[in-house]
Amino acid sequence: MAFEYAPAPESRALLDLASTYGLFIGGEFVDGSGSSFKSVSPATEEVLAEIAEATEVDVDRAVGAARRAYARTWSRMPGSERAKYLYRIARIISERSRELAVLESLDNGKPIRESRDVDLPLVSAYFFYYAGWADKLEYASPSWQPDGGRGRAPAPLGVAAQIIPWNFPLLMLAWKIAPALACGNTVVLKPAETTALTALYFGEICQQADLPPGVVNIITGAGETGRALVTHADVDKVAFTGSTEVGKEIARAVAGTKKSLTLELGGKAANIVFDDAPIDQAVEGIVNGIFFNQGHVCCAGSRLLVQESVFDDVMVRLKRRMRTLRVGDPLDKNTDVGAINSPQQLAKIRELSAVGEAEGAERWSAPCELPDRGYWFPPTVFTGVSQAHRIAREEIFGPVLSVLTFRTPAEAVEKANNTPFGLSAGVWTDKGSLILWMANELRAGVVWANTFNQFDPTSPFGGYKESGYGREGGRHGLEAYLAH
Ligand code: NDP
Repeated sequence: MAFEYAPAPESRALLDLASTYGLFIGGEFVDGSGSSFKSVSPATEEVLAEIAEATEVDVDRAVGAARRAYARTWSRMPGSERAKYLYRIARIISERSRELAVLESLDNGKPIRESRDVDLPLVSAYFFYYAGWADKLEYASPSWQPDGGRGRAPAPLGVAAQIIPWNFPLLMLAWKIAPALACGNTVVLKPAETTALTALYFGEICQQADLPPGVVNIITGAGETGRALVTHADVDKVAFTGSTEVGKEIARAVAGTKKSLTLELGGKAANIVFDDAPIDQAVEGIVNGIFFNQGHVCCAGSRLLVQESVFDDVMVRLKRRMRTLRVGDPLDKNTDVGAINSPQQLAKIRELSAVGEAEGAERWSAPCELPDRGYWFPPTVFTGVSQAHRIAREEIFGPVLSVLTFRTPAEAVEKANNTPFGLSAGVWTDKGSLILWMANELRAGVVWANTFNQFDPTSPFGGYKESGYGREGGRHGLEAYLAH
C-alpha cells in the first residue's frame, strides 16, 4: 500500500489568470465575434476562465493576419533572424515553466509532477531544437535543394492551420509551432476546447518575445472552429493531432485541394514483455506506458502482451505496484494519476470498461479513494482479454490496460500488428537480437526497447495505417513544413 503522505500542493500564487480571454490575432488579444465558453478544471469543476469561441469571421481574420505576416516579414526574414525569435521563446518558456506547469495541470488535470518534469522541459526543448534548424534548412537533406545542390534553403509552404488535442496542450503546440516557424511559415493554431488556457498564455509569450504580429495566431473554439480553419481557402498546410474519426474527416476536406496535410491520430500500442525481461523494470514500464497522463496518450501502451510463462509473476507485481499509485489532486506533488480531462472522456472510458466486462474480460481496479468532485477513474487492468474484444481493439484513451498472452515471438508480432493502428510499441527482453528482430517486424512508427513513452525533439514521431501520416520531431519533422 501507499505510505501516508502529508499534502504537498504546488502554489497557484504565480498564476495571473484573467476571468475572460479573447482571441490572439495579429499579435493582439481581440474580442471574438461569436459567443464564449467556459474552461473548467477537471479535478474540481471550478470555472477557470471564459473564452471566446471563434466564428468563421474570426478564422478569416486570423488567416488574413497570418498571410500578411508571411508575405511581409516572416518568409523574407533570414533563417538566422527567425532563430533568434525561437530561441527567445524557448528561453521565456524555461523561465516561466513553473507558472505554465501549474496552469497546465489546473486546466488539463495532469499531475504537476508530469507537467513540471516532462511536458514543460520538452516544450522548451522543442523550441530550442527547431531554433537551431532555422538557419540550416539547406543542410537538412540534400534531396530538398530546389536548385540542384547549390545550397539554397528549401521554401516554406505559407500559412499553416494547426489543430491540437487536449492531452498535451502545450507540448502539442510546441510540436506544431516550432518546426513551422523555423521553416518560415506562419500559423493559426486551434487548441482543444477543454484546454485552451496555456495556448493563450503562449500568445502572451509571443508578445513578450516581440514576435512580429500575425506570425502566430491562436483561435479558440470547438469542432466547428476547427472545421472552418481546415476548409479556409487561404490555408496552405493543415497539421492535425486528434482522433482517427476527425482525422479522416479532415483528410476528406483537404483532398483535391493544394493543401498539404499531416495527421497524427490514435493508437493501440502493444507493450510486449518476454520471459527473460527484467520484470521489475518491465512493470515500471507498463505502469508508465498506460497510467502516465491518465492514459490520455496516443502512443500509450494500452495492450500488454505478456509471455505466458511469466504471466502470473507479472500480474502479481503489476497489481502490487498499482496499489501504490496515488490518484488525486493534480497540483499535489505526490500525485501519480490525476483527473480525467472531461465528462465526455470519462463517459467513454466507463462505457468501454463496461463493454470489457460484458464481453467476458476480468476487471481489476487499484483500490483508491476518488475525490467527490471532478472527473476520476481508478487505474484499471483487464485480464482474460481476447483479440476480438473491443477493449483490445479500440482506443480507450484512459487509465485502462488490456492484458493478452503469447508463447512465441512470432505470435507476439502477429498479435501486436493485429490492429488498424500503428503508432508505437514496446519490447522488454534481455536479448538485443530479439529487440532488433521485433523492431523490424512491428508495424509501428516508434518502437521502444526496455523503456516506454520516451520523447525527444531530435527523434521523429508518427504512425502507420490509421495512426496517420507524416512525422513530427527531428529532421524529418521539417519536411512537413517545406516545399520539396
Ligand atoms: P478530436 O479529434 O475530436 O479533437 C482534436 C482536435 O480537433 C480538437 O481541437 C477538436 O476541437 C478539433 N476538432 C473536432 N472536430 C473537428 C473537425 N470536424 N474539424 C476540425 N477540427 C476538429 O478528439 P476528442 O478531443 O473529441 O477526443 C475523442 C477521442 O479521440 C478520444 O476519446 C481519444 O480516443 C481520441 N484522441 C486521440 C488523440 C491522439 O493524440 N491520438 C488526442 C485526443 C483524442 P474540440 O476539442 O474543441 O472539440
